[in-house]
Amino acid sequence: MPLQLYNSLSRRVEPFQPVDPKRVAVYACGPTVYNHVHIGNWSLFTVADVLVRWLRESGYTVVYVQNITDVEDKIIRDSRAAGEDLATFTSRWAGAFLEGMEDLDNRRQVDHFPRATDHVDGMVTMIQTLLDRGHAYLAEDGSIYYRVSSFEHYGELANIKREDLRAGASGRIKADEYDKEDIGDFALWKGWVEEDGDVVWEPEFTIEGTARVVKGRPGWHIECSVMSSEILGPRIDIHLGGEDLLFPHHQNEIAQSEAAFGVHPWVTTWMHHKHLLVDGTKMSKSKGNFHTLKDLEDRYGKGIASAFRYLIASGHYRNSLDFSFNGLEAADRTLRNLRTAREQLAEQAGDAAPSEYAAAYEARFVEAMNDDLNSPEAFGALHELRRAARGDAAHDKLSAADAASALALIDKADRVFGLALQREERALTPEQQALVDARAQARADKQWAESDRLRDVLAAEGVLVQDTPDGQDVSFA
Ligand SMILES: [Zn+2]
Repeated sequence: MPLQLYNSLSRRVEPFQPVDPKRVAVYACGPTVYNHVHIGNWSLFTVADVLVRWLRESGYTVVYVQNITDVEDKIIRDSRAAGEDLATFTSRWAGAFLEGMEDLDNRRQVDHFPRATDHVDGMVTMIQTLLDRGHAYLAEDGSIYYRVSSFEHYGELANIKREDLRAGASGRIKADEYDKEDIGDFALWKGWVEEDGDVVWEPEFTIEGTARVVKGRPGWHIECSVMSSEILGPRIDIHLGGEDLLFPHHQNEIAQSEAAFGVHPWVTTWMHHKHLLVDGTKMSKSKGNFHTLKDLEDRYGKGIASAFRYLIASGHYRNSLDFSFNGLEAADRTLRNLRTAREQLAEQAGDAAPSEYAAAYEARFVEAMNDDLNSPEAFGALHELRRAARGDAAHDKLSAADAASALALIDKADRVFGLALQREERALTPEQQALVDARAQARADKQWAESDRLRDVLAAEGVLVQDTPDGQDVSFA
């Protein structure tokens, strides 16, 4: 079966057909950089990464773009609160984001990380096109809005009618305090207000034949339309985002792009990732179940990133995955077992050419991934293979060629899911072990200062020591 994907636009699973079979254009809405990214967003970026890995593994040439939103309401608010200019503030958080991408091994697949502030000229040009075609207008409040009533396909993605927008508009739309013609209209260019401080551009627009400088900054939706098209062109094969972005963000991206580029559909396949739950409920700061990747790394060391990837991929991207620390630890144990199994198979395989031993498992793996990225089923095939190979090895029935065949499928899964299966398990040096033991003794003797000093010495060498009710837990940064 060739690749099939669930398309949020048609609300069906469809055969995947790129516009240009030689080049698949993929865009994922990236982070707004004003803090550490939470694990719900990391989950989406990991799903997008697995999709791109699978496309590449299947032989497609992919251009994959993930934007960085570096001008937006929350950024302006928090950079001002921090007393920093926009560029200093956002480059710090963009740096933290890229580091997380690196830790999760999500970074290598991305070809471009455009930043919104580098594309403001393009945004101005696109807004001018929308003004010229009657899709946009300048309101009394100094903002330029998109005229939703001018776009006949508005609401198709979100499955809502324009009339319903007006009648039952969500709080998010109502909350907007600008002077619009229609409640569903959204800002393309936000007129400058005092809270924006020095975050301001002063482009000249031609509005109804008159040149006018409109002080302000781009709206969030136009950023994605411009950053994607300037790199990928006017058609996109797959656009990904969290389910919370479907409306209004993605619906608005469509309205802008289709009206400006004269294409329909602008995006062939829309993929939306279901929200990650934490301990059975929605993640929120007030509930105390809000976690960032950094929280996980501080607790377990950087190696935990591959366990997080495994945990995400062990669920289907269209089902809510329930994150818990127990689940993460179980994923880490499974990965360790898989790593050991891989090592044993590699040893047994030697230089042998692979037999057909794993062929049926591989067929299942491929079939599952082609079935709307059914990663739980793909892992099912992988674990069955591992058990079969272990059983056959115990009965001396696994030849070197069979081991090579099983190894090849495990390595394919490693490429597709990014599980770092070939990472060397690190062990403490005898000197480090002596420091860990000395620290245990210091704690037993209640010499807290000495115990803290030893923890810092170890941390400087990349060995993280945590105190648990069962004693010290050691991991590697
Ligand atoms: Zn976006």
